[in-house]
Amino acid sequence: MDKQQLPALGIDLGGTKIAAALVQGHTVVGEPWRVPTPQGPDKIIEALLELIEKFKKEHLIMGVGIATAGIVNPETGEVVGSTGNLPGWEGTPLKKIIEAKTALRVHVENDANAAAYGEVCASPHLQNKTCIVTVTLGTGIGVGIIIDGDVYRGAHFAAGEGGHIKISMENRRRCTCELWDCWEAYGSGRGLLATGWEMLEGVTDDQSRLAQRRAHLTNQDILEAAKDGEVLAQRMLEKWHEHVACGLVSLCHLLDPDVFVLTGGMSKFVDYKMLRDMVADRTLPRISKFLEIHPSLLSEAAGLIGAAELVLLEATRGDKPVRA
Ligand SMILES: [Zn+2]
Repeated sequence: MDKQQLPALGIDLGGTKIAAALVQGHTVVGEPWRVPTPQGPDKIIEALLELIEKFKKEHLIMGVGIATAGIVNPETGEVVGSTGNLPGWEGTPLKKIIEAKTALRVHVENDANAAAYGEVCASPHLQNKTCIVTVTLGTGIGVGIIIDGDVYRGAHFAAGEGGHIKISMENRRRCTCELWDCWEAYGSGRGLLATGWEMLEGVTDDQSRLAQRRAHLTNQDILEAAKDGEVLAQRMLEKWHEHVACGLVSLCHLLDPDVFVLTGGMSKFVDYKMLRDMVADRTLPRISKFLEIHPSLLSEAAGLIGAAELVLLEATRGDKPVRA
């Protein structure tokens, strides 16, 4: 068999679960596997090796692509910046360890970058674009940037840390990165909840059913109340859309993208008409006139598809010189 036709194994390593699947022809082949993410780097590596062995026993594979949270040097495959989701992960020479143990080619990539690359590979309508930006709206906010078909990683592999764009100077909300007023402190799931609490200040229990749930308020409460027509809940959601738009507008003026692809758990609650109008109102017409904003077609599989595609690309292109 032609070596280039072999599938690659794509792995998406997240804070709560590890998903793995074979990827061939820009799509997932067969059933993906999911296991809970264990605690600590040693146990995570053990779980990754177990998954790889399982697939290796049953299939001939070209290599392994791993999408992980954290800042990654994809040339050395080392995690060079940590993430709260995977404590102790910084400094792990992941590519070196997995290649030594499995004798397979390995590519390691930041998860948001991998997801962006996966979206582009698997979506015919995203081919031949100049700039595609994927935005993951989840507990936090992740950004992946594809310029002329390649992942844009920046000078220190930290490009796309868009969740930490500063959107206010009032020092009102502390981000998980410890800086103040980052985009993800407002536009993420955590951000919507914080907005909910703020807007409940001074509201009495008989004025809103959300006020009755104040101590245990969840995003689900806000979403359900908004659907049932509660005006305060609808205003909370509208405010959240404004916060999401605020970061997109900054990205628009910096990058002039063709398209934003929205993904992640919170993207399901986006009113696209409202968001497009808000972005258009706040963006230079030369940019907003052409800009598209739409949901991801791949949802959870984008990261592992992208990681697998990157190892396949590397296998066909050959290795590039390594930066430290
Ligand atoms: Zn931050």
